[in-house]
Amino acid sequence: MTFSNRKVFVVGGSRGIGAAIVRRFAAAGATVIFTYAASAGAAEQLAVETGAQALRADAGARNELIAAVRDAGPIDIFVYNAGLLVFGDPLTLDADEVDRMIDVNVRGAYFGSVEASRLMPEGGRILVIGSDTADSMPFPGLAAYVLTKAAMQGMARGLARDLGPRDITVNVIQPGPTDTDMNPADGPRAAGMLEPMAIKRYGTADEVASLTLYLAGTQARGITGAMHTIDGGFAA
Ligand code: NDP
Repeated sequence: MTFSNRKVFVVGGSRGIGAAIVRRFAAAGATVIFTYAASAGAAEQLAVETGAQALRADAGARNELIAAVRDAGPIDIFVYNAGLLVFGDPLTLDADEVDRMIDVNVRGAYFGSVEASRLMPEGGRILVIGSDTADSMPFPGLAAYVLTKAAMQGMARGLARDLGPRDITVNVIQPGPTDTDMNPADGPRAAGMLEPMAIKRYGTADEVASLTLYLAGTQARGITGAMHTIDGGFAA
């Protein structure tokens, strides 16, 4: 699969799943721009490794994100990967942290996707990284996180209707437990995460990137407004 002559914009590409997506699109010949918020060192290294352009832009700050997307010009493939995970008893969670997660996971996904769609050519793609927890939530402590990921489902269905007439697809990729800094395969929550999985193995960021490239390719032009779960059967 080649993406030469395609401009790809990845929101939140410095680490984990986002970095794997940057690597795979760059290897497939795309022109890749990615944003980051805190991990300047990792972003710089990834830019040198892949030839992608790294941009500091906080996805939770609406105008900053919109400006970064607008300044990139026409984008063929927009991937919204940035995400925060705030975990704990809803009665004691810090409300500001929950608000910040909603800013990054929901508001950023919406305003970034809408801005990207303005100049997006026909055949364009919007892909947001949700979570299989939007479909199945076997643990306590994740209500606010799941709220944000369920919101992406509604957004994708709605935007698919808005943008379908321009031949632009909008899809959600829903990973399950995936070995990254957010959810390490050797972390304290790993054993509990494996329990509901049919395949008792953490996924890799590269596996999620593979699905992303599939949905971004020409063969997926008829797929829109849909959720694509890659979770080893966690939500089955
Ligand atoms: P990581 O925490 O490993 O990486 C998160 C990435 O998002 C980093 O590159 C980070 O950049 C970026 N990011 C976070 N906040 C912002 C922000 N405000 N502005 C710009 N970039 C930002 O997470 P994962 O790779 O595991 O997760 C990626 C996505 O996949 C998330 O949306 C997550 O919810 C989802 N997901 C992950 C699962 C898992 O098990 N790992 C399971 C299901 C879904 P920086 O460090 O520079 O801020």
